[in-house]
Amino acid sequence: MESFLAALAPLAWVQHGFGTRNDCRVPGELAFLKQIHSDLILFADRPGVCGEGDALVTNLPGLALSIRTADCYPILLADARNRAIAAIHAGWRGTAARIVAKTLEKMTSEFGTTPSDVYAAIGPGIGVCCYEVGEEVARQFGYEARTHLDLASENRKQLETAGVPPQNIEALGVCTFCDAERFFSYRREKEKAGRMTSFIRIL
Ligand SMILES: [Zn+2]
Repeated sequence: MESFLAALAPLAWVQHGFGTRNDCRVPGELAFLKQIHSDLILFADRPGVCGEGDALVTNLPGLALSIRTADCYPILLADARNRAIAAIHAGWRGTAARIVAKTLEKMTSEFGTTPSDVYAAIGPGIGVCCYEVGEEVARQFGYEARTHLDLASENRKQLETAGVPPQNIEALGVCTFCDAERFFSYRREKEKAGRMTSFIRIL
C-alpha cells in the first residue's frame, strides 16, 4: 500500500492507501462494489459487497471503502468538517459521466458536505503518456479526433469546478502502464491483469 500523498495527511481521522500489484492488503472491515463503469453512488453501511456501482460514501467509522482498478483511477475524498468519506472508480466512462462531481453532490445530500471542506487524492492510473483513445471516446471529452486522454486532469477539473480548493487536491502522478514493476495495467496485460485495491476509512 502506498499512502504518501500529502493531501489527506492533515486529516488525522482518515486512513487511506493505494494498492500496488505487490500489496493490496486492506486492514479491517471492507466495503466494496460490483464495479460496472457507471455513475452510480452507494452509501456503505456494512462490510461486504454493497451492490452494483462505482462510488461508495459513508460517515461510519471503522468501515474501509474500497475500489479495485488496473488503469482506471481510484479517487478518495474526505470532508474535513463533517467527517465523511468517498471512494470512487473513474475510468473514461465514469469520468465522462462526471462520477466525481456526482459523488460530491451525494455527499452534500447525505452529510451536508460543502466542497470547500473536501480533500481529494487521485491515485495511480493510466497516464496521458500511454492513454491514446479513438475518436468515439475522444468526443466525450470535447476532442474532434483520436487523442491522448488525461483522466487525472479531467477529474481534477471536475473537483475544482465543483468547488474543491486546488490546494486540497493531490494526484499521485504515476502511470500504471509505464510502471509494470509496481502496477497492474489492463491495457498492458489485457485479460491477465490483476487489480489493485485502494481504500479510505474513518478511524
Ligand atoms: Zn505511461
